[in-house]
Amino acid sequence: MTSPEPSAGDPSGSVDFIRERIMADNESGTYGGRVQTRFPPEPNGYLHIGHAKAICLNFALAEEFGGTVRLRMDDTNPLTEDTDFIAGIEQDIAWLGFEPDGPTVFASDYFEQLYQWAESLIERGLAYVDDQDAETISAGRGGFGQKGTDSPWRDRSTEENLGQFRQMRDGAFDEGEKVLRAKIDMNSPNMWLRDPILYRIRKVAHYRTEDHWCIYPTYDWAHGQSDAIEGVTHSLCTLEFDVHRPLYEWCLDQLDLPNDRPQQIEFARLNITHTITSKRKLARLVDEGHVDGWDDPRMPTLRGLRRRGYPPAAIRAFMDHIGVARVDGTVEIELLESFVRTELNQSALRRMAVLRPLKVIITNWPEGQTDWLEGIENPEDPEAGTRQIPFTGELWIEQDDFKVEPPPKYYRLTPGREVRLRAGYFITAQDHVLDDDGNVIEVHCTYDPESRGGQAPDGRKVKSTIHWVSADHAVDGQVALYDRLFTDPYPTGHDDVDPLDFVNPASREVLVDVKLEPVLEHTPLGDVVQFERLGYFAHDPDQPMLFHRTVGLRDEWARIQKRKQSGG
Ligand code: ATP
Ligand code: MG
Repeated sequence: MTSPEPSAGDPSGSVDFIRERIMADNESGTYGGRVQTRFPPEPNGYLHIGHAKAICLNFALAEEFGGTVRLRMDDTNPLTEDTDFIAGIEQDIAWLGFEPDGPTVFASDYFEQLYQWAESLIERGLAYVDDQDAETISAGRGGFGQKGTDSPWRDRSTEENLGQFRQMRDGAFDEGEKVLRAKIDMNSPNMWLRDPILYRIRKVAHYRTEDHWCIYPTYDWAHGQSDAIEGVTHSLCTLEFDVHRPLYEWCLDQLDLPNDRPQQIEFARLNITHTITSKRKLARLVDEGHVDGWDDPRMPTLRGLRRRGYPPAAIRAFMDHIGVARVDGTVEIELLESFVRTELNQSALRRMAVLRPLKVIITNWPEGQTDWLEGIENPEDPEAGTRQIPFTGELWIEQDDFKVEPPPKYYRLTPGREVRLRAGYFITAQDHVLDDDGNVIEVHCTYDPESRGGQAPDGRKVKSTIHWVSADHAVDGQVALYDRLFTDPYPTGHDDVDPLDFVNPASREVLVDVKLEPVLEHTPLGDVVQFERLGYFAHDPDQPMLFHRTVGLRDEWARIQKRKQSGG
């Protein structure tokens, strides 16, 4: 478990290691006080909550240090990339609340420069064309404490290498027949320096460069050089790349750079319990039909969270809170949800909705009369004002809120008991109707006309307040309730078990006979409201009167903290 390190926004004033580094660079004048970061997604899927951490960090650093930040598509792999993902990624970043400096840039725009630089390596004896197949190359690398074996092609002449490399570019060879490797050190303790592959033959059209190229640079040959071309100063990436850093630096050191040499800094990836943050695995959830798509409200993608009703401000506040660390860990999803709840508590208007309706008849209600009651829009925001709620002699309440034989500590409606209707009247259950199977299908109550607004003039107390909707005015709707997408808190944490084996088959429950307060018909698509006593619900962006439960009302995070403190 990560114990979150404080970020710069931390009131204790402590500063994380990345900010420390930048401050030191500014002090020593390494980049002349310049700070330039980038967010470099591979456009092979939509962004997820893990990416949001990298985005928040890169944008925050640029902002704090008066620098710039660009969005760069790391599109060196022609097989999996797609323009739809690019537009989606741009939208997701804008939704999260960030605007990159300048237009989106593309690693594929640097293919020619990268190629020229590769030739310059060859000319200086620093790269060679290897005819071995992938398996032989991999075996030749050796292992930890085990020497590598030189390729028989390692000492090809410069002329031959250049000729061969140009022929690779011109399509003279098949895929897998040859690669270009850097000539570094086959016995380096760092495996990445054992003559890493710089170019592979891929006879596939690229979505941008089309069929101009049939050789494509590897991540290691493209990334640092792309940073250098753009003038990036601090190139942040996740921890698994720390072993690549010597190679990142080696490549840059061999070249005549147009800008200062960028530096790679690694930070811990964000992992969250009960979910996964890997595009490849998220793509499997979509492709194998576990979810409806990348924007399914159960997905930890930004478009999924948006549909679910997560406010971008809550995601930003969460990222600020967890800060950056140098050790991988997993953050409880309940912590993220507590930020969502805190934000929505401030912003969401209060509404009433009955998810599993049970009819209540007020037997002493004047026939045909409608009373318009006043409901508070948002107790956290007096400026939000009030709304009118219709009250009539036929209401819907939750089936759960009436029990013929109440269990202990059940204070809601039972035969003979009086309860308060939210913003309405006190009612007392007098009688009920059962169907042939013994289910309650109707409750008959009397109301106290003196208790309008929820206070009895004699000051008598009731033990509970329940929500309701006038049957005459109710609008029909649907609600989707969600449980964790993965039953296991660490779906990727088990050796030899496919994380998708932990997909929760009951992660969604759709209720189709929901009775909604009429004003909900005017809730803009995509808006989030609070259904009193039930949680926060987001109006689906496309389907009117479908509401997704964003989070419940109970603070699960506080409960977890309490349990931890008491050692339970
Ligand atoms: P995935 O495994 O989901 O495909 P990735 O690292 O391959 O992730 P990229 O599109 O290459 O995906 O990532 C873009 C940027 O986002 C990189 O700088 C990467 O380090 C960062 N990033 C990706 N996942 C996370 C995460 N879980 N936490 C923090 N940063 C992340
Ligand atoms: Mg990647």
